[in-house]
Amino acid sequence: MGARVKVVSEIEKIMRNIDQIRNIGIIAHVDHGKTTTSDSLLAAAGIISERIAGEALVLDYLNVEKQRGITVKSANVSLYHEYEGKPYVINLIDTPGHVDFSGKVTRSLRVLDGAIVVVDAVEGVMTQTETVIRQALEERVRPILFINKVDRLIKELKLPPEKIQQRFVEIIKEVNNLIDLYAEPEFRKKWKLDPNAGMVAFGSAKDKWGISVPQVKKKGITFREIIQAYEKGKEAVAELSKKMPLHETLLDMVIKFVPNPREAQRYRIPKIWKGDINSEIGQAMLNADPDGPLVFFINDVRIEKAGLVATGRVFSGTLRSGEEVYLLNAGKKSRLLQVSIYMGPFREVTKEIPAGNIGAVMGFEDVRAGETVVSLGYEENAAPFESLRYVSEPVVTIA
Ligand code: GDP
Repeated sequence: MGARVKVVSEIEKIMRNIDQIRNIGIIAHVDHGKTTTSDSLLAAAGIISERIAGEALVLDYLNVEKQRGITVKSANVSLYHEYEGKPYVINLIDTPGHVDFSGKVTRSLRVLDGAIVVVDAVEGVMTQTETVIRQALEERVRPILFINKVDRLIKELKLPPEKIQQRFVEIIKEVNNLIDLYAEPEFRKKWKLDPNAGMVAFGSAKDKWGISVPQVKKKGITFREIIQAYEKGKEAVAELSKKMPLHETLLDMVIKFVPNPREAQRYRIPKIWKGDINSEIGQAMLNADPDGPLVFFINDVRIEKAGLVATGRVFSGTLRSGEEVYLLNAGKKSRLLQVSIYMGPFREVTKEIPAGNIGAVMGFEDVRAGETVVSLGYEENAAPFESLRYVSEPVVTIA
């Protein structure tokens, strides 16, 4: 078996078990470190563990991808992570970087179940932090917190350990106030950030270290030690990233506190989908049923060399290449020519993608982001996630 086939088949195996999938995004005020954080996750977490695929296979795979010259600016990046001995696929879905009013933020939040909120430790909670948290909560996306740029508290502000801790407490309090303000009553208490339970990480995305309170206790790390590392210099800081790698801390947090897609769809579908929840399609989505009718929501459309690539989330049923489906907003049938999954930032062709997962499709002509795709036979009784009015060509109005 070639490297690609073997690695893809390992990921496909994990994708069939919904408990081992997480769909997340990173949201932040501009410049607080969203890009640096996602880059460090991608660099470290990679595509699949060497333990499962073998070192040679992983290297082989990456070499093949390099030769194919695919860009890393991806609509989705799928990360591989092991937690308590179990493998997980974490889809990190691209969310628009800055506040925009076109509905794109809501559209991308719709395919996520959890979000890492990045806050600059020096600046604290800012206006856009508030906006993105409010938008996430409106979509019933669960927030967890990463307090970034802690190196600045040490190097620039030269704060002692007690003051650093005090700063964290203030930021957590501010974020919790926003959760109080914007979360619906049933989530307010459950989603309140408890640092002692490990729902908050602090660290430096630039220096690639991050830690949570339970890990501080478990690993016996002290603030003084972290401060001293910065006093000692580069090598000591590099040690921090080995002792408490940021990707491990954040992805552990995601697996522990972000619900799996089935758990999330139970409470999210009634909020984000306006159709009849008691209909066959409504029930299939509530249960993220891979055997139910297909519902695929497209949050991103990009033009690649080979044509239009539409990325989105399978809310129910299974995407299968070759199948004919119906595009609710465009009001027409279309064929799924090629179905692919993300491996790191790359796409690999696969036969099928079951409910709960993020995948990409080629073959739809002039499809728009925001489109809802369903199985044939459900043209009439399925409501779209978003109603797009197709005016004249490239103009799209979101109702
Ligand atoms: P985004 O706008 O949220 O995507 O922010 P970026 O990831 O582009 O980061 C904005 C700036 O902050 C860049 O100059 C980064 O190098 C810097 N930055 C990101 N993380 C850290 C950090 O942990 N410490 C410090 N000192 N700077 C950081």
